Amino acid sequence: MSALLEVRDLRKHYPVRKGLLGRAVAKVHAVDGISFSIAERETLGLVGESGCGKSTAGKTILRLVDPTAGTIEWRGSRIEGLGRAAMRPVRRELQAVFQDPYSSLNPRLRAADIVAEPLRNYERLGAARAREQVAWLFEKVGLRPDQMVKYPHEFSGGQRQRLGIARALAVRPKLIVCDEPVSALDVSVQAQVINLLEDLQAEFGVSYLFVAHDLAVVEHISHRVAVMYLGKIVELTDKRTLFRDPQHPYTEALLSAVPVPDPQAKKKRIILQGDVPSPITPPPGCRFHTRCPYAEERCRREEPAMTEVRPGHLVACHLRTAVQP
Ligand code: SF4
Repeated sequence: MSALLEVRDLRKHYPVRKGLLGRAVAKVHAVDGISFSIAERETLGLVGESGCGKSTAGKTILRLVDPTAGTIEWRGSRIEGLGRAAMRPVRRELQAVFQDPYSSLNPRLRAADIVAEPLRNYERLGAARAREQVAWLFEKVGLRPDQMVKYPHEFSGGQRQRLGIARALAVRPKLIVCDEPVSALDVSVQAQVINLLEDLQAEFGVSYLFVAHDLAVVEHISHRVAVMYLGKIVELTDKRTLFRDPQHPYTEALLSAVPVPDPQAKKKRIILQGDVPSPITPPPGCRFHTRCPYAEERCRREEPAMTEVRPGHLVACHLRTAVQP
């Protein structure tokens, strides 16, 4: 699989301003040096607790916010410094589906016009052709043609998310950043939307960056998973390995909290002590050391590098340097 997106050492810091003059007195290290790639037809899950920087990472890749440092390579070309006009063809290929479909859909437009908007922007289709395309997209995402004349408030949450997916898919993107796309939906509806995303990937060959805090959802849809903690990726590997044999203590703790369907299965829950430190003053050394049950002196001083502990399995922990096959 060739890389569609290659992100290297990406950082996004926000200034904290104070006083009448709005002087920057500190900065929030929302994303602080993350690297990963996404191949064609691949789903990379980006997972972590709220505030770990995963949504900011998605927004930065979409260039909805400008990166502070690092590179974003899209199909072999750097895009992190591109202006509005140069970004236009990239934006067509790089679409997004957000958590709250209601706030991302224009309430004054009918459903057909919402889905047709990107088609009009990028393809300048005539009314009849656009309508045909919209009807086809409605069918692809499981909406009925008679719903084309409705307004967003007339749809259920799941249907609104289908509408958001149809809009993202309209211009045939190569990658869709899905930012918590099912976390506002009921569990039964979540499964339908996830299955829809998988079907669309099989049919259109689209890749996903799937940002979520729910590990069960990420396990279902992802090929590989990156775990984020306080602005950093701490572990990245294929889904099966991550869920069967996590190596980073933070991943271990996250996985121990996921309920298992088998009531007989015993799992030892790891309760992390303390709160997530502030991203304004992240701890020195390993950022997880304030909560890690295995922390030693070195962890407080030295930041662990991402190390390949087995082929394709990267971990940032001083205690994990290699895993026996
Ligand atoms: Fe824990 Fe140290 Fe590993 Fe960080 S480097 S995860 S503190 S053992």
